[in-house]
Amino acid sequence: MLHTSLEGRVALVTGSTSGIGLAIAQRLAQDGATVCLHGLGEAAQIEAAISAATSQMGPRPRHFGGNLTEPAAATSLVEEVEETVGSIDILVNSAGIQHVSPITEFSLERWNAVLAVNLTAAFLTIQRALPAMLKRNWGRVINIASVSGYFGVPHKAAYAASKHGLLGLTKVVSSETARTGVTCNAVCPGWVLTPLVERQIEARAARDGVSFETAGTELVSASHPSGQFVKPEQVAGLVSFLCTPDADEVRGVGWNMDGGRLAR
Ligand code: NAD
Repeated sequence: MLHTSLEGRVALVTGSTSGIGLAIAQRLAQDGATVCLHGLGEAAQIEAAISAATSQMGPRPRHFGGNLTEPAAATSLVEEVEETVGSIDILVNSAGIQHVSPITEFSLERWNAVLAVNLTAAFLTIQRALPAMLKRNWGRVINIASVSGYFGVPHKAAYAASKHGLLGLTKVVSSETARTGVTCNAVCPGWVLTPLVERQIEARAARDGVSFETAGTELVSASHPSGQFVKPEQVAGLVSFLCTPDADEVRGVGWNMDGGRLAR
């Protein structure tokens, strides 16, 4: 029988108190999934995320904590969801951080933090969630990588390394699950206007002495042939598609959504 909605499916979206992860959580909730939110934030931000992701189609989402710079937190997160909500059918690794610095000044502390959140946490959540998916012979692992998984731009050593690594991890998990009902894919956005990018635009505006709007337009125009930011809801739409039966044989891809950037 084709599973046309996500009703009855449990989805964990890491990093869903903000930005792309929140948009994905909202979309999966609209698709009927039982959504588990995760991420950092003040109580008010977490409550706002829960409200935003609450849909008539599925139960009210629950929030789970855990600072992913600590490897044990990633494993505990999956265990807590499994114990309190149920086995995870859809795992979206969206938590991510950025640090911008020339390589000669890049601190080991920041390198380790970026690798821990962007890559090691995904390795650990997948490792912990996969057995239950394989047991039920259905699952979706979707890693939010980046076009930075394909090339390197100056001053983003840890971010590019983590996203290249995340694409490699995606391909390996896809290979290991190829003969099962579990798929593993990555989505590789270009610039998406979220708090993570707003901080970079603010730095650019301060550096160039221009407004936030001007700095944002210059940033996106310089790299997206479309001249447009990707919207978080568009990334969420692609994640939703990857959860449908039509995507059963989409395996191990890094699907870019970047205003035509990689096509140049
Ligand atoms: P964001 O800053 O809006 O959200 C990041 C989320 O990760 C938040 O929920 C935050 O609480 C969580 N998080 C951060 N550090 C954490 C930690 N130590 N422990 C647990 N949770 C933590 O960022 P975003 O733009 O929505 O980015 C989401 C993902 O998309 C990231 O993996 C990012 O690399 C990727 N991405 C973003 C863009 C973009 O232009 N915004 C482009 C390509 C890829």
